[in-house]
Amino acid sequence: MKVLVINSGSSSIKYQLFLMPQEKILARGLLEKIGLSGSMLHHSREESSKIEISTEIKDHHQGLRIVLETLSHPQYGAIEQIDEINAVGHRIVHGGEKYTASCLVNDNLVSAVRKFCELAPLHNPPNLAGIEACEELLSSVPQVAVFDTAFHQTIADHAYLYAIPYAYYEKYRVRRYGFHGTSHRYVALRAARMLGKPLTELKIITCHLGNGCSITAVKGGRSVETSMGFTPLEGLVMGTRSGDLDPAVAFYLMEKLNLSVSEMKQILNRESGLLGVSEIGNDMRDIWKAKEAGNPRADLSLRIFWHRLKKYIGAYAAVMNGLDILVFTAGIGENDYRTRQKVCEGMDYLGIEIDKKKNAAVQGEKAIISAASSRAKVLVVPTNEELMIARDTYEITKRKT
Ligand code: AMP
Repeated sequence: MKVLVINSGSSSIKYQLFLMPQEKILARGLLEKIGLSGSMLHHSREESSKIEISTEIKDHHQGLRIVLETLSHPQYGAIEQIDEINAVGHRIVHGGEKYTASCLVNDNLVSAVRKFCELAPLHNPPNLAGIEACEELLSSVPQVAVFDTAFHQTIADHAYLYAIPYAYYEKYRVRRYGFHGTSHRYVALRAARMLGKPLTELKIITCHLGNGCSITAVKGGRSVETSMGFTPLEGLVMGTRSGDLDPAVAFYLMEKLNLSVSEMKQILNRESGLLGVSEIGNDMRDIWKAKEAGNPRADLSLRIFWHRLKKYIGAYAAVMNGLDILVFTAGIGENDYRTRQKVCEGMDYLGIEIDKKKNAAVQGEKAIISAASSRAKVLVVPTNEELMIARDTYEITKRKT
């Protein structure tokens, strides 16, 4: 069965075509700058080199048409006909409280995702555009929605509610939703498999450290706490997002500098985090280069980043009453051994003992980086949200195709 996985962003479409259940990638690509000048398609097929097509793409519908044409192109395609695609899986950022698992797309789901655009104004509209384009171009093919928020719907009310007037939850559904759920679910599952232990018996903390960062406590295979909240702004320090902040800081700055709500949003979402403190950039590699060159602000931004992460690990171990596995994933988690080492230092009270030599040798591949004597195991697990989406899509649609 061939499953097309679509991750449709505001000006891009990322895609992968899988052969399932073999989990083999037949083709993948990225269409960028949709609706902007200089649109470009980067496409590659297994065992063949990458191609780049520069073309004017005005919207997601046209973008998806080009993706489908490329996938079935006689020279660089991976299929002969578009109708070889048996199912499509979509990454959808916000499923609200309604979706606790991946679901077949139907009219009800589309209207719910549209309703949740209010909660995820940057993400849900382009996700929806991806679904609509597929409905038009692949009308008879079943589609599945895989939500970033779904994995966290097992979190208890005392952990997902904010201590603000309850009416705001009742009226406006203001609560913690959590994001990156597909990634946390995938790496927790993979970590349990790597250690040959049943997921249902484990207490796992998963650290997704990319440009966006979040951390999740996974107890018995269920998310019990996560650091992103009502929006992805809460929690860890990120590339350009502040993470946790006393809300009074925003009131103070807005009053003092006469800032509008949207200006304050811009500061906390796009001008803060590693970028805001270091004034160098949001890319961890650039921060490290500056630190090595003696830049004190690069050093400070790293220390804030590590401190916040450590604080959360301790808190989540407390929430679960213990820790069996600590997992690092995404760009920083998979590649930055110095961050992994710093964060694991001084955590022997949790049974964390890292093998410095093993850790330093791991970049981008799965590995156990704790010492043999470490009570809690520390793992690097490359995330693969696309594969998780393909698996869910396969499981939900296999009886229908
Ligand atoms: P992601 O959003 O998962 O693609 O992760 C992006 C982040 O990973 C950026 O901050 C990158 O600087 C960081 N990253 C990627 N490779 C490395 C590396 N070798 N060392 C440190 N950070 C890295």
